[in-house]
Amino acid sequence: MSENPVLKEPIKILEYKAPCPVCGREGVVEDFVYEVPHFGRILLTKFQCPHCGYKRSDIENLEENEPVEITYRVEVPGDERALFVKSSSATIRVPEVGVEITPGAFSQGEITTVEGIILGLIDVLKLACESPSDSCTSKIQYLQGVFEGKNHLTIIVEDPTGVSRILSSKAEVKKIKLKEEKQLLGE
Ligand SMILES: [Zn+2]
Repeated sequence: MSENPVLKEPIKILEYKAPCPVCGREGVVEDFVYEVPHFGRILLTKFQCPHCGYKRSDIENLEENEPVEITYRVEVPGDERALFVKSSSATIRVPEVGVEITPGAFSQGEITTVEGIILGLIDVLKLACESPSDSCTSKIQYLQGVFEGKNHLTIIVEDPTGVSRILSSKAEVKKIKLKEEKQLLGE
């Protein structure tokens, strides 16, 4: 295994047609396999409908599937650059700003970075802060301070499918027992 956390080019293994869940016409499914350092192989499935434009992607773990909780602390500049394999069923909690992102019908599986998640949180808070309140604005300022090394942040990821990973030796991964599977899946 390599020490380098950069992903190699994915290998496309399959392409097939499937009915679109939105318009019922024929869409295209593509399956890609990624080799993830220190983790193993994951399958990225992309669906695209050429008729109505509906898109969906998700990630599956080809190695193991036990529910996990990942704790990752952003403490010094650079920590936020860790790669983040996020499945569509991951719940993300950030205790310092009291925010929780729960999986919903529009959750996507994706390969991003911790920085991408923090920037996404800032966007969500900006939308929620239409009439600026002190607590809302201070949460955004806190998150922006993380990039300047002023503030620490804890990212807790709970994933019943066991697919999500943060690719860093600082990430603590713990196997968990499912409490309310339905709640975790956002149903
Ligand atoms: Zn469609």
